[in-house]
Amino acid sequence: MPAASVRFSLRTRCQSRLLTDKIFFDLDTKQITPQELDQQDPLASYREQFLFPQHQGAPVGYFTGNSLGLQPRGVRQEVLRELDDWAQQGVEGHTRARKPWLPYHEFFSASLARLTGAKAAEVVLMNGLTVNLHLLMVSFYRPQGKRRKILCEGKAFPSDQYALRSQLRFHGLDPEENLLEVMPDPETGYLDEDAVVAAIDQNQDELALVMMGGVNYYSGQWLDMPRITDAGKRAGAVVGWDLAHAIGNVPLKLHEWGVDFAAWCSYKYLNGGPGATAGAYIHERYHGQEDLPRFEGWWGHDKDSRFAMPDRFQPIPTAEAWQLSNAPVLSMAPLLASLRLFDEVGMDALRQKALHLTQYLAQTLETVRSQTGIALRIITPQPESQRGCQLSVVIPEQGRRIFDYLTAHGVVADWREPDVIRLAPVPLYNNYQDVHDLGQKMIKAIKENS
Ligand SMILES: *Cc1c(COP(=O)(O)O)cnc(C)c1O
Repeated sequence: MPAASVRFSLRTRCQSRLLTDKIFFDLDTKQITPQELDQQDPLASYREQFLFPQHQGAPVGYFTGNSLGLQPRGVRQEVLRELDDWAQQGVEGHTRARKPWLPYHEFFSASLARLTGAKAAEVVLMNGLTVNLHLLMVSFYRPQGKRRKILCEGKAFPSDQYALRSQLRFHGLDPEENLLEVMPDPETGYLDEDAVVAAIDQNQDELALVMMGGVNYYSGQWLDMPRITDAGKRAGAVVGWDLAHAIGNVPLKLHEWGVDFAAWCSYKYLNGGPGATAGAYIHERYHGQEDLPRFEGWWGHDKDSRFAMPDRFQPIPTAEAWQLSNAPVLSMAPLLASLRLFDEVGMDALRQKALHLTQYLAQTLETVRSQTGIALRIITPQPESQRGCQLSVVIPEQGRRIFDYLTAHGVVADWREPDVIRLAPVPLYNNYQDVHDLGQKMIKAIKENS
């Protein structure tokens, strides 16, 4: 894309209340420095709330918050509190810990509801993401007669593909016949939503489930979730979303969009720590239905009679009915510290900064391209409505070498074969200086080779 059109798109798309459009025009002329941009950033102080890995005594340029979010400073205290309460109270901690373990998962519901645009009763923190996808498909993928196909995006995250294919086989169905994958456009590398909707319409008599990633892990594309949800519902299918790369990254309105179910992990943009407990959303229309197939466990049973240990399962009339086991407190505690920050800032302000910071990254990459002549291409869609904060960059031939140079020089990014570097400037803790430095290092990497 020529520089002129990048600048034009910046002007038309950046409707900023925080920063003026002008800054982007001034970047090339160096009239506004990244330091000044950071000074104008109302969220700048949140960077101090996070612990950065160090490289030669300085924080790394961390661009992999889409893979594992950084540790909030408050995490240690949350975990230590549970260790202390366990040490001092033993089993009594279930009811007497400062945050009692019995209802521990409930401490997350309000924040998760805000992040997903759901009612608190529609969300629950439990298990791992892939586990939750399976548990939800037990309830929401119920092939019947001709209606047995699942539609998803082509090249979905491997775990999602394995989950979908194994669910089909579990029902005695051949994945080759019953899994419809809408492939990304070979030219652009991302999904054409018209093609998704057309595929839904064409298969409307045979479609049981539409299950897709809200934000694609590879391209960074944010799908038009309400449009696809609507198309799926009109076709008579159940619609579920994998929000691994969407939650904490883009604003969501699951309830309003009529989404049936969703699941996410908590260690990417939510900064819950490695293997953190995941989450699930189930629209309230399914709550309290005793005849809905579900894999059941005691933690999904009515709270009042749980410890009377009755024989028959009586579901809690909320998303909690899908819980099996009692809360893994130690793998949940870190998330409390992170969600406090999300609650303080709110998704509106985060999204506002994400748009600017990512646009700044796009412009920085354009500068790298124009100054070095390298064949660099952003495959993430440019319109704001089609992306979160991740940009995926294709650098043919030289990509791996540049990536290795960046790694050796204190930049943590993510490499995907054959030639893609994924970069996610996260608005809670990345700043404009990080992005600027990245651009400078890329230019050096390219020039040193030629
Ligand atoms: C990160 C990610 C996963 C990871 O699954 P886990 O069960 O948390 O290990 C699955 N699906 C998608 C789309 C992801 O981005």
